[in-house]
Amino acid sequence: MRKTNETAPLLGIRHGDTVKVMAGRSKGKTGKVLSVNREKRRITVEHANMIKKHTRPNPQKNVRGGIVDKEGTIHISNVMLVCPGCGKHTRVGHTSLPDGTKARVCRRCNTTFEH
Ligand SMILES: [Zn+2]
Repeated sequence: MRKTNETAPLLGIRHGDTVKVMAGRSKGKTGKVLSVNREKRRITVEHANMIKKHTRPNPQKNVRGGIVDKEGTIHISNVMLVCPGCGKHTRVGHTSLPDGTKARVCRRCNTTFEH
């Protein structure tokens, strides 16, 4: 059962998951999810969709000026989860384990893994 007090829907993808990028500049790349923005339905993936970020020097924060490479955000619809069970990119279902805890399930191999 879905909680009603959540401000944004669950995306099926969590921080630390491995995902495959299915569209855009980094198509075909696989990487770890670095951050998830549930409101915007966007995530950042390690080494995917790199952008050049121009920074100003800030001696207080020990930041040097210049251009740094940084992961840009990718819309959730452009990535698929890589299943820890079968190692393939897959759609994710939701299920409840016998003890009542919620889990995600791979649509390909039916491996369940933690929410
Ligand atoms: Zn699987």
